Amino acid sequence: MDLGGTNLKWVVLERDASSPRVLDTGQVPTDTSRGERSVVEQMIDVARGAYRDLGRMESVGVGVPGLYDPVAGTTRFMPNVPGNWAGVPVADEVSAAVHAPARLINDARAFTLAEHRLGAGRGVQSMLGITLGTGVGGGLILGGSLYMGHDGTAGEFGHLTILPDGPPCTCGNRGCLEALARADAIVAACGHATVEISVQAARDGDRRAQQGLTEVGQYLGIGVANAIALLSVDRVVVGGGVAAAGEMLLAPLRAELRRRVFITDLDAVDVVCAELGIWAGAIGAALHGTGAAPSVG
Ligand SMILES: [Zn+2]
Repeated sequence: MDLGGTNLKWVVLERDASSPRVLDTGQVPTDTSRGERSVVEQMIDVARGAYRDLGRMESVGVGVPGLYDPVAGTTRFMPNVPGNWAGVPVADEVSAAVHAPARLINDARAFTLAEHRLGAGRGVQSMLGITLGTGVGGGLILGGSLYMGHDGTAGEFGHLTILPDGPPCTCGNRGCLEALARADAIVAACGHATVEISVQAARDGDRRAQQGLTEVGQYLGIGVANAIALLSVDRVVVGGGVAAAGEMLLAPLRAELRRRVFITDLDAVDVVCAELGIWAGAIGAALHGTGAAPSVG
Protein backbone atom coordinates (compact mmCIF):
# COMPACT_ATOMS: atom_id res chain seq x y z
CA MET A 1 0.00 0.00 0.00
CA ASP A 2 1.03 3.56 -0.65
CA LEU A 3 -0.64 6.03 1.70
CA GLY A 4 -0.89 9.58 0.39
CA GLY A 5 -2.72 12.66 1.59
CA THR A 6 -5.05 12.37 -1.45
CA ASN A 7 -5.23 8.66 -2.34
CA LEU A 8 -4.54 5.26 -0.83
CA LYS A 9 -3.10 3.06 -3.59
CA TRP A 10 -2.30 -0.64 -3.56
CA VAL A 11 -0.83 -3.34 -5.72
CA VAL A 12 -0.84 -7.11 -5.38
CA LEU A 13 2.62 -8.41 -6.18
CA GLU A 14 3.46 -12.01 -6.99
CA ARG A 15 7.00 -13.11 -6.36
CA ASP A 16 8.57 -16.15 -7.97
CA ALA A 17 12.06 -17.23 -8.93
CA SER A 18 12.42 -14.64 -11.70
CA SER A 19 10.95 -11.18 -11.26
CA PRO A 20 8.02 -9.83 -9.21
CA ARG A 21 4.81 -9.36 -11.21
CA VAL A 22 1.97 -6.93 -10.53
CA LEU A 23 -1.31 -8.92 -10.40
CA ASP A 24 -3.71 -6.16 -9.42
CA THR A 25 -3.81 -2.43 -8.64
CA GLY A 26 -6.35 -0.09 -7.09
CA GLN A 27 -6.85 3.20 -5.31
CA VAL A 28 -9.42 5.04 -3.19
CA PRO A 29 -9.54 8.64 -1.96
CA THR A 30 -7.89 8.74 1.48
CA ASP A 31 -10.59 8.95 4.17
CA THR A 32 -9.40 11.39 6.82
CA SER A 33 -12.92 12.15 8.12
CA ARG A 34 -12.00 10.71 11.55
CA GLY A 35 -8.31 11.54 11.42
CA GLU A 36 -5.85 8.65 11.67
CA ARG A 37 -8.57 6.16 12.77
CA SER A 38 -10.50 6.26 9.48
CA VAL A 39 -7.24 6.01 7.50
CA VAL A 40 -6.05 2.94 9.42
CA GLU A 41 -9.49 1.29 9.05
CA GLN A 42 -9.32 1.97 5.32
CA MET A 43 -5.88 0.32 5.11
CA ILE A 44 -7.26 -2.72 6.98
CA ASP A 45 -10.22 -2.91 4.53
CA VAL A 46 -7.88 -2.79 1.53
CA ALA A 47 -5.61 -5.49 2.98
CA ARG A 48 -8.60 -7.71 3.85
CA GLY A 49 -10.03 -7.26 0.35
CA ALA A 50 -6.78 -8.43 -1.24
CA TYR A 51 -6.56 -11.29 1.25
CA ARG A 52 -10.08 -12.48 0.35
CA ASP A 53 -9.28 -12.36 -3.38
CA LEU A 54 -6.01 -14.23 -3.02
CA GLY A 55 -6.83 -16.74 -0.32
CA ARG A 56 -3.43 -16.20 1.24
CA MET A 57 -0.91 -13.45 1.61
CA GLU A 58 2.78 -13.74 2.42
CA SER A 59 3.45 -10.20 3.60
CA VAL A 60 2.25 -6.62 3.52
CA GLY A 61 4.29 -3.46 3.01
CA VAL A 62 2.91 -0.02 3.83
CA GLY A 63 4.50 3.12 2.39
CA VAL A 64 3.84 6.20 4.53
CA PRO A 65 4.48 9.85 3.63
CA GLY A 66 6.57 10.71 6.64
CA LEU A 67 8.59 9.29 9.51
CA TYR A 68 8.00 6.00 11.33
CA ASP A 69 9.62 3.70 13.85
CA PRO A 70 10.87 0.70 11.82
CA VAL A 71 11.25 -1.57 14.87
CA ALA A 72 7.86 -0.88 16.51
CA GLY A 73 6.04 -0.49 13.18
CA THR A 74 4.43 2.73 14.39
CA THR A 75 4.08 6.05 12.60
CA ARG A 76 5.79 9.15 14.01
CA PHE A 77 5.05 12.22 11.89
CA MET A 78 3.12 12.76 8.66
CA PRO A 79 2.68 16.45 7.86
CA ASN A 80 0.44 15.88 4.81
CA VAL A 81 -2.10 13.38 6.21
CA PRO A 82 -4.59 14.79 8.77
CA GLY A 83 -4.65 12.97 12.11
CA ASN A 84 -2.53 12.41 15.19
CA TRP A 85 0.05 9.96 13.82
CA ALA A 86 2.47 9.82 16.74
CA GLY A 87 2.76 6.18 17.87
CA VAL A 88 -0.05 4.65 15.78
CA PRO A 89 0.65 0.86 15.48
CA VAL A 90 -0.15 0.65 11.76
CA ALA A 91 1.98 -2.44 11.07
CA ASP A 92 0.44 -4.47 13.93
CA GLU A 93 -3.14 -3.53 13.00
CA VAL A 94 -2.72 -4.42 9.32
CA SER A 95 -0.79 -7.57 10.19
CA ALA A 96 -3.52 -8.82 12.55
CA ALA A 97 -6.20 -8.24 9.90
CA VAL A 98 -4.58 -10.51 7.29
CA HIS A 99 -2.53 -12.96 9.39
CA ALA A 100 0.72 -11.94 7.69
CA PRO A 101 3.72 -9.85 8.74
CA ALA A 102 3.51 -6.15 7.84
CA ARG A 103 6.33 -3.61 7.57
CA LEU A 104 6.35 0.15 7.15
CA ILE A 105 8.60 2.13 4.83
CA ASN A 106 8.78 5.80 3.88
CA ASP A 107 6.98 6.38 0.57
CA ALA A 108 9.96 7.94 -1.24
CA ARG A 109 12.22 5.08 -0.10
CA ALA A 110 9.55 2.69 -1.47
CA PHE A 111 9.58 4.59 -4.79
CA THR A 112 13.38 4.32 -4.91
CA LEU A 113 13.33 0.59 -4.17
CA ALA A 114 10.75 -0.07 -6.90
CA GLU A 115 12.49 2.02 -9.56
CA HIS A 116 15.79 0.32 -8.76
CA ARG A 117 14.40 -3.20 -8.92
CA LEU A 118 11.90 -2.84 -11.78
CA GLY A 119 12.12 0.65 -13.29
CA ALA A 120 14.53 3.38 -14.41
CA GLY A 121 17.29 2.33 -12.00
CA ARG A 122 17.60 -1.33 -13.06
CA GLY A 123 21.15 -2.64 -12.96
CA VAL A 124 22.94 0.29 -11.29
CA GLN A 125 24.91 -0.10 -8.07
CA SER A 126 24.09 3.36 -6.71
CA MET A 127 21.10 5.61 -7.26
CA LEU A 128 19.40 8.66 -5.81
CA GLY A 129 15.59 8.51 -6.11
CA ILE A 130 13.72 11.81 -5.92
CA THR A 131 9.94 12.29 -5.63
CA LEU A 132 8.47 15.68 -6.45
CA GLY A 133 4.92 16.36 -5.31
CA THR A 134 3.14 17.80 -2.27
CA GLY A 135 6.56 17.37 -0.63
CA VAL A 136 10.03 16.49 -1.87
CA GLY A 137 11.16 12.96 -0.98
CA GLY A 138 14.23 10.87 -1.60
CA GLY A 139 15.87 7.50 -1.25
CA LEU A 140 19.30 6.00 -1.71
CA ILE A 141 20.54 2.80 -3.30
CA LEU A 142 24.15 2.11 -2.27
CA GLY A 143 26.06 -1.04 -3.17
CA GLY A 144 22.99 -2.36 -4.98
CA SER A 145 20.54 -2.16 -2.08
CA LEU A 146 18.35 0.37 -0.32
CA TYR A 147 20.29 2.27 2.33
CA MET A 148 18.12 3.11 5.35
CA GLY A 149 20.45 4.65 7.92
CA HIS A 150 19.92 3.68 11.57
CA ASP A 151 16.21 4.53 11.63
CA GLY A 152 14.93 4.50 8.04
CA THR A 153 15.49 8.22 7.45
CA ALA A 154 18.54 8.03 5.15
CA GLY A 155 18.00 9.67 1.78
CA GLU A 156 15.78 12.55 2.95
CA PHE A 157 16.81 14.58 -0.08
CA GLY A 158 14.06 17.17 0.52
CA HIS A 159 15.61 18.28 3.79
CA LEU A 160 19.04 19.26 2.51
CA THR A 161 19.57 22.93 3.37
CA ILE A 162 19.78 24.95 0.14
CA LEU A 163 19.23 28.53 1.36
CA PRO A 164 20.62 29.17 4.90
CA ASP A 165 17.93 31.76 5.75
CA GLY A 166 15.26 30.48 3.36
CA PRO A 167 11.57 29.87 4.06
CA PRO A 168 10.56 27.63 7.00
CA CYS A 169 10.11 23.91 6.33
CA THR A 170 7.58 21.50 7.91
CA CYS A 171 10.56 19.65 9.48
CA GLY A 172 11.54 22.67 11.63
CA ASN A 173 14.57 23.79 9.60
CA ARG A 174 14.71 26.75 7.20
CA GLY A 175 15.63 26.79 3.52
CA CYS A 176 15.21 23.03 2.95
CA LEU A 177 14.88 21.93 -0.66
CA GLU A 178 11.31 20.83 0.16
CA ALA A 179 10.40 24.36 1.25
CA LEU A 180 11.68 25.65 -2.11
CA ALA A 181 10.54 22.92 -4.51
CA ARG A 182 7.32 21.46 -3.11
CA ALA A 183 4.19 21.91 -5.26
CA ASP A 184 3.00 24.92 -3.19
CA ALA A 185 6.38 26.63 -3.63
CA ILE A 186 6.36 26.02 -7.40
CA VAL A 187 2.85 27.43 -7.66
CA ALA A 188 3.87 30.53 -5.68
CA ALA A 189 7.00 31.05 -7.81
CA CYS A 190 5.07 30.68 -11.08
CA GLY A 191 1.99 32.73 -10.14
CA HIS A 192 -0.58 30.14 -11.28
CA ALA A 193 -3.17 27.99 -9.48
CA THR A 194 -1.55 24.56 -9.96
CA VAL A 195 1.75 23.04 -11.07
CA GLU A 196 0.07 21.67 -14.23
CA ILE A 197 -1.20 25.14 -15.21
CA SER A 198 2.23 26.62 -14.40
CA VAL A 199 3.97 24.12 -16.69
CA GLN A 200 1.51 24.74 -19.51
CA ALA A 201 1.87 28.52 -19.07
CA ALA A 202 5.66 28.20 -19.22
CA ARG A 203 5.39 26.13 -22.43
CA ASP A 204 3.11 28.84 -23.87
CA GLY A 205 5.73 31.50 -23.20
CA ASP A 206 4.68 32.94 -19.80
CA ARG A 207 7.93 34.52 -18.54
CA ARG A 208 7.10 34.37 -14.81
CA ALA A 209 6.18 30.69 -15.02
CA GLN A 210 9.36 29.95 -17.01
CA GLN A 211 11.48 31.79 -14.43
CA GLY A 212 9.70 30.04 -11.55
CA LEU A 213 10.33 26.56 -12.97
CA THR A 214 13.93 27.46 -13.86
CA GLU A 215 14.55 28.66 -10.31
CA VAL A 216 13.07 25.48 -8.80
CA GLY A 217 15.13 23.37 -11.24
CA GLN A 218 18.25 25.23 -10.11
CA TYR A 219 17.47 24.54 -6.44
CA LEU A 220 16.97 20.86 -7.27
CA GLY A 221 20.28 20.96 -9.16
CA ILE A 222 22.10 22.36 -6.12
CA GLY A 223 20.68 19.49 -4.04
CA VAL A 224 21.66 16.86 -6.61
CA ALA A 225 25.15 18.40 -6.95
CA ASN A 226 25.59 18.07 -3.19
CA ALA A 227 24.38 14.45 -3.31
CA ILE A 228 26.80 13.65 -6.16
CA ALA A 229 29.70 15.25 -4.27
CA LEU A 230 28.94 13.09 -1.25
CA LEU A 231 27.94 9.80 -2.90
CA SER A 232 28.97 9.86 -6.58
CA VAL A 233 25.84 7.93 -7.56
CA ASP A 234 25.53 6.29 -11.00
CA ARG A 235 21.99 7.44 -11.62
CA VAL A 236 19.41 9.96 -10.43
CA VAL A 237 15.76 8.94 -10.99
CA VAL A 238 13.15 11.70 -10.72
CA GLY A 239 9.46 10.84 -10.20
CA GLY A 240 6.27 12.02 -8.50
CA GLY A 241 3.40 14.07 -9.93
CA VAL A 242 5.43 17.25 -10.34
CA ALA A 243 8.04 15.36 -12.42
CA ALA A 244 5.50 15.59 -15.28
CA ALA A 245 7.08 19.04 -15.80
CA GLY A 246 9.89 17.03 -17.43
CA GLU A 247 12.58 19.11 -19.13
CA MET A 248 11.09 22.36 -17.79
CA LEU A 249 12.68 21.28 -14.46
CA LEU A 250 15.32 18.78 -15.62
CA ALA A 251 17.06 21.15 -18.09
CA PRO A 252 17.85 23.81 -15.44
CA LEU A 253 18.70 20.96 -13.01
CA ARG A 254 21.30 19.55 -15.44
CA ALA A 255 22.66 23.06 -16.20
CA GLU A 256 23.15 23.60 -12.48
CA LEU A 257 25.09 20.32 -12.23
CA ARG A 258 27.42 21.47 -15.02
CA ARG A 259 28.02 24.72 -13.09
CA ARG A 260 28.77 22.97 -9.81
CA VAL A 261 30.13 19.45 -10.23
CA PHE A 262 33.84 19.21 -11.10
CA ILE A 263 35.08 16.43 -8.86
CA THR A 264 33.57 13.61 -10.93
CA ASP A 265 32.71 13.04 -14.59
CA LEU A 266 29.09 14.13 -15.05
CA ASP A 267 28.85 12.00 -18.22
CA ALA A 268 28.89 9.00 -15.88
CA VAL A 269 25.82 10.25 -13.95
CA ASP A 270 22.44 9.79 -15.67
CA VAL A 271 19.55 12.03 -14.61
CA VAL A 272 16.40 10.30 -15.88
CA CYS A 273 12.62 10.22 -15.36
CA ALA A 274 11.00 7.39 -13.40
CA GLU A 275 9.34 4.53 -15.34
CA LEU A 276 6.77 2.91 -13.04
CA GLY A 277 4.28 5.80 -12.83
CA ILE A 278 1.80 6.15 -9.98
CA TRP A 279 2.21 2.58 -8.71
CA ALA A 280 5.93 2.84 -7.89
CA GLY A 281 5.35 3.61 -4.20
CA ALA A 282 2.98 0.66 -3.67
CA ILE A 283 5.26 -1.72 -5.61
CA GLY A 284 8.25 -0.64 -3.49
CA ALA A 285 6.26 -1.04 -0.27
CA ALA A 286 5.27 -4.58 -1.34
CA LEU A 287 8.90 -5.44 -2.13
CA HIS A 288 9.94 -4.08 1.28
CA GLY A 289 7.17 -6.07 2.95
CA THR A 290 8.72 -9.31 1.69
CA GLY A 291 11.79 -8.57 3.77
CA ALA A 292 13.93 -8.26 0.62
CA ALA A 293 15.17 -4.89 1.84
CA PRO A 294 16.58 -4.16 5.32
CA SER A 295 14.31 -2.33 7.73
CA VAL A 296 17.27 -0.52 9.28
CA GLY A 297 21.03 -0.40 8.98
ZN1 LIG B 1 13.00 20.34 5.99
